[in-house]
Amino acid sequence: MDDSRSAIRAARLFDGERAHNGPVLVLVEDGRITDVDLTGANPPEGVPLTDLGDATLLPGLIDAHSHLAFEAGGATEHQMCHDDDATVLGRMREHAARALRAGITTVRDLGDRGYLSLRLREEFAEGGMGPRIVAAGPPLTRTRGHCWYLGGEADGVDEAVAAVADRAGHGVDLVKIMATGGMSTTGSNPGGSQYTLAELRAVTEAAHGRGLPVVAHAHAAAGIADAVAAGADGVEHCTFMTPKGVRLDPATVDAMAAAGTFVGCTVVKPRAGMPDEVLRTIEPYWENQAYMHRRGVRVVCCTDAGINAHKPHDVLPTDLVYFASQVATNTEALTSVTSLAAASCGLAGRKGRVAPGHDADLLAVAGNPVHDLGALSRVRAVLRAGRRVAGVLPQGDVVLPEAGVSGAGGHR
Ligand SMILES: [Zn+2]
Repeated sequence: MDDSRSAIRAARLFDGERAHNGPVLVLVEDGRITDVDLTGANPPEGVPLTDLGDATLLPGLIDAHSHLAFEAGGATEHQMCHDDDATVLGRMREHAARALRAGITTVRDLGDRGYLSLRLREEFAEGGMGPRIVAAGPPLTRTRGHCWYLGGEADGVDEAVAAVADRAGHGVDLVKIMATGGMSTTGSNPGGSQYTLAELRAVTEAAHGRGLPVVAHAHAAAGIADAVAAGADGVEHCTFMTPKGVRLDPATVDAMAAAGTFVGCTVVKPRAGMPDEVLRTIEPYWENQAYMHRRGVRVVCCTDAGINAHKPHDVLPTDLVYFASQVATNTEALTSVTSLAAASCGLAGRKGRVAPGHDADLLAVAGNPVHDLGALSRVRAVLRAGRRVAGVLPQGDVVLPEAGVSGAGGHR
C-alpha cells in the first residue's frame, strides 16, 4: 500500500465557496488534494479510505487575526514585559494546538513579541503538528503607543522604514502597523491616529517593495482613511470612531471596495455588564460591517484571539455564528473564514478550498454548517496536510489513518 496516498469520504461538502449535497471523495497525496469527486466513485485500488459517514467536509478554518502569545484572560502587558521567551513560546504552542483541535488549520498572528511566532512557524513547517502560521512579528507602533510592550516602537518615517526592513530580514509574512490607538493598552486612545499619512505611505512602500503586504490596525475613521489612501492591504477592526461617535465614511468604504482592501472584522459581542459607552460602539460597529459587506468590501470574520477572557484561541467557530447573525448568510460566513481568509493571508491556491492543488487541511463536522453554523463546534475530524490531528473530540466508529505522510516539511 502506498502510504503517501489516502482518500476521505463524507456525506456532504462545503468547498470554500459552494455547498454540495451529496457524497464527496477527496484524494490526497503528499499532503495535498489531488482530486475531488462528487459522483459517488470509489477510491483507486490500494488507496486507504477513511469514511467519515454522515459528516460535512470543509476546508480547515483560517483565523486571520490572532495573538498566539496572549493568554486569554491573562495579564498580557505584565506577561509580555516579564516572561522569558521559553515561557511565552510554551504558551503559544498550547494556544496553537487548541486552535488546531477546533479545526483552525491556519492562524495569522498579528502581533507577537520577539518574532516568536516565526519560531513556531518553522517548528510546524519542519514536521511538528500545528496550524500553518502566518506571522507579522511585533506590530509597528509609536513610542508608548498601542501594544508598545511587544517591542515594535518606531517613530517617524526613518524609524518606521527601518522597522520594515528589520521585519523583512527576520522573514515575516506581512507587516502590521497600529495606525490608531487601541482599547487594550493603558493610556492609548483608539480615536487618535498614531501615524501621519506620509508615515503610513512610507511603510506600505517599503513593505510592498519587499513583497510584504501591510495590515493596519485602525479604529478611528481618520486613521482608516489614511491607511486606505496609503495602500494598506487590510484594515483590522475598521470601527470608524469619530469625535462624534461611530460614523462610517461611505467614501472610504467605496475606496476599499474598489481597491480590494480586506477588512478584518474582529468579532465583539455585546455582553451584560459592559459599560454603556462600549455598548454604544458595538451596535454601529456591526451595522458598519454589514454595510461594508453589502458594498462589496472583502470582510473577513476573525477573532483577535487572546485579547481577553472571552477570546480563547479556538473561539472562531462560535464567533462566526455571531458574525453571520449580523453581517452575512451562512454560506458567505463560511466563505469568509475559508477561501476569502486564505486570500487575505496571501494563501489563495494553497488554503481555504477543497480543490486539487490545495493543501489537505480539512475539517469534518457532524451536521450541515450551511444550515446551522453551530455544526462547526461538532468536530468529527481535523486533518492538517493530510495528517490526522490527535486529541479531537470522540469520533465514534470513525477510523482515520495515522500520521506518516512523506514530505511533511514542505507544507506551509
Ligand atoms: Zn489584535
